[in-house]
Amino acid sequence: TAAAADAGRVTPMMAQYVEIKANNPDCLLFYRMGDFYELFFQDAEIASRTLGIVLTKRGKHLGEDIAMCGVPVERADDYLQKLIAAGHRVAVCEQIEDPAEAKKRGAKSVVKRDVVRLVTPGTITEERLLDPGRASLLVAVARRRVSDEIYAYGIAALDISTGRFAVLETDQRGLAVELARLEPREIVCPDAIHDDPELREFWRDVAAPVTPLAREGLDPASGERRLKEFFGVATLDAFGAFSRAEIAAAAAALAYVERTQLGARPPLSPPVREGMSATMLIDAATRANLELTRTLAGERTGSLLATIDRTETPGGSRLLAERLAGPLTDPEAIGRRHDAVALLVEVPSLREALRRDLSRVPDIARALARLSLDRGGPRDLAALGAGLEAARGVAAALLRQGGLPEELREAALALGRTDPDLATRLANTLADELPLLKRDGRFVREGFDPALDELRLLQVDSRKVIAQLQARYAAETDCRTLRIKHNSMLGYFVEVPQAVGETFLREPWRAVFVHRQTMSDAMRFSSVELGELEAKIASAADRALKLELSIFAALTEAVLAQAEPIKAAAQALAVIDVAAALAELAIDGGWTRPQVDDGAAFTIRAGRHPVVEAALKRQGQPFVANDSELSASGKSRDGRICLITGPNMAGKSTFLRQNALIAVLAQMGSFVPAQSAHIGIVDRLFSRVGAADDLARGRSTFMVEMVETAAILNQAGPRALVILDEIGRGTATFDGLSIAWAAIEHLHEANRCRALFATHYHELTALAERLDRVANATVRVTEWNGEVVFLHEVVPGAADRSYGIQVAKLAGLPPAVVERARAILSELEKSEREKPVAALVDDLPLFAVQMRKPAPAAVPVAGPDELREALAGLDPDEMTPREALEALYRLKRLN
Ligand code: ADP
Repeated sequence: TAAAADAGRVTPMMAQYVEIKANNPDCLLFYRMGDFYELFFQDAEIASRTLGIVLTKRGKHLGEDIAMCGVPVERADDYLQKLIAAGHRVAVCEQIEDPAEAKKRGAKSVVKRDVVRLVTPGTITEERLLDPGRASLLVAVARRRVSDEIYAYGIAALDISTGRFAVLETDQRGLAVELARLEPREIVCPDAIHDDPELREFWRDVAAPVTPLAREGLDPASGERRLKEFFGVATLDAFGAFSRAEIAAAAAALAYVERTQLGARPPLSPPVREGMSATMLIDAATRANLELTRTLAGERTGSLLATIDRTETPGGSRLLAERLAGPLTDPEAIGRRHDAVALLVEVPSLREALRRDLSRVPDIARALARLSLDRGGPRDLAALGAGLEAARGVAAALLRQGGLPEELREAALALGRTDPDLATRLANTLADELPLLKRDGRFVREGFDPALDELRLLQVDSRKVIAQLQARYAAETDCRTLRIKHNSMLGYFVEVPQAVGETFLREPWRAVFVHRQTMSDAMRFSSVELGELEAKIASAADRALKLELSIFAALTEAVLAQAEPIKAAAQALAVIDVAAALAELAIDGGWTRPQVDDGAAFTIRAGRHPVVEAALKRQGQPFVANDSELSASGKSRDGRICLITGPNMAGKSTFLRQNALIAVLAQMGSFVPAQSAHIGIVDRLFSRVGAADDLARGRSTFMVEMVETAAILNQAGPRALVILDEIGRGTATFDGLSIAWAAIEHLHEANRCRALFATHYHELTALAERLDRVANATVRVTEWNGEVVFLHEVVPGAADRSYGIQVAKLAGLPPAVVERARAILSELEKSEREKPVAALVDDLPLFAVQMRKPAPAAVPVAGPDELREALAGLDPDEMTPREALEALYRLKRLN
């Protein structure tokens, strides 16, 4: 029965833990115990798995073992980073009273604890937890019912590390596109949206953790109140006109920030409304496929962003990423950006001067955010000082240059609005070498405050006095090895060898030294003089730190009083940095200013793929530039379709993508890798590649391809740019051909947009005769000594052959398989001549494609020997899953 009673017992500490945990059920709870944060129960299991730390047990709770693991407080940041990266939220629970206080209440009473902060992926500010080149966005989603089935979605995107706060409204399709553009670190939404069964799959596919919020306080009325209170305004009209869904989303974002920051106030800018049509819509699949900010493997290196990033500051790097993710659709706004780049291309001395100054600009936006959340340190103050100082140089350099384009002039003016004395004051107050934490002290410059200098002198002096005392004691006791030491338990003490110590216990030394501790070979004593000195030193250090902290507080206050102009300056620096970086890039690569207007042109002369070109350059190989022409002709606004055939490896995908990238670069405000480019605004960009693997989502590759193709055919409007690469490849030849065929017809007749279509179905080239806006192009290849040579040159016309077998041979397919393939091919070609598929074009009305089944006799059947041979040529250990899948199809065809 004792055991049973025990089983029901809950220790006071566990009771406290359980209560705090119950208030934060969706977070891992870091429960402070001395020098550790401990995690219990399921939290401990999750943390030990994610962090690879040991899981132990600590007593029992309601008769069950308590799983536990802990992380040292000193290294908590590292562990937090890993947990956050894995998508967890962490509640940090501190002891909020001195343990001595708790003891006074009774032996069994527990130290008071409370959660002081929630650390979540979307609300962090610590330099070490943030990626300098990437915005750290928290996105809130809210919605409002428009009709029975239709919702309007409000999106609020907020970066507490820089204060950016944007809202917009869209529909359900737009939601996916916008989330792909914003790349949030964390998404929050009312639980009704989170739990909507219709959206279950949608949330699963989103690449950020999604946190549901309880509905209370998120209704439009209280949402509006919350926003007004936070920004201290009587009406939101001052910030612009917002829809109800936008207000709801902004309020949800704010509610979450307030919840996670527990009262601390981040320096948020008032919400800015982003027009739905202000940016080119690019969905997640297209972004991934074009490798805009990340490669297909998920790396930044090798992406377009990494290739073009010449910025000097973290803020500039973030702005460049933001612009690349959301190219504009307003030719005038785009032109303003081009003007800025153009000036810096034309005036190299200005560009170089700016870049030199910019290279000294630290991350002032994020330093400011930490200071306003009371998480800043001396280095943040110094960063602001240095940043503002450098900003003056940047502004001066710009203003010396007459006739600045609008974007640069505005930026220069914003830089001029910061208080010049603040930078000087920060520089004069702060020391050259700074500690990370303000509580470490010694960050105020010597000579700044006489009172502080005096206290420091006292500390230095006291140390001298201690050295003198040690010398005196040593002489008096005739013990050369006598030392005065310090530790946290005894404070200052005298340490002598055991034998000498014994004599201290007797007169006359007994009157001077008080025995404190006996070690194995030494003894430790205190003395009255030592005690007095210690008190003096401690109080001097204490007073010095207090003084430093008050100086810190005063500086922080002075900085925060200018939060708005500083934030504007940070943004201006980023704008200048991006313009200078794009100019540098243009000079380096010989890029030119594109002509962007409201028309329906798409004329590129000698265009290049910047990423492939850079890769080839590293190998010392040239990139072959290619033209492209998709412009509408005459009065019509209907775009043209370019149908590209050519063998694998010829450069079809590269050509397709380079055209999309040139449009993206032009509309984000960059120059482009081409001799010339004339582009009518692209409002929506689509890019699909056939048979891309999506094993992770458990959908068949073909299904994915068709879902994505359907999205394009359903959504592409007249101003879209569509890029389709090998559509239909994931299924049987005739199915695939029919689908590709019908897709081109639909693009031509219904979407009427500009499109590039690469295919290995030569039969499709016959469509050009029938559809007036379809033109054929091919990538040139020649044969030399039976080997294929790729010229990478796109020319009008259709490919004569596919060279598939030559390419397969190049790839190292066993000679026997290559030989057999040649034989099969000639059989097939013979049968095709008798019944050419291309001839079907004339029989088929548009949109009513019906393919005849191939005559069974036309397909030669491989004998068991060929199968065996093909099998022998496979090495499963050397194959990727995709190659394996393809091999399987190949074998299946042989059978
Ligand atoms: P495809 O889509 O026709 O199979 P890719 O576009 O993938 O061919 O190109 C295959 C390779 O050929 C690329 O990785 C690149 O190394 C090279 N290549 C493609 N286009 C060019 C070009 N314009 N100039 C030089 N090399 C190129």
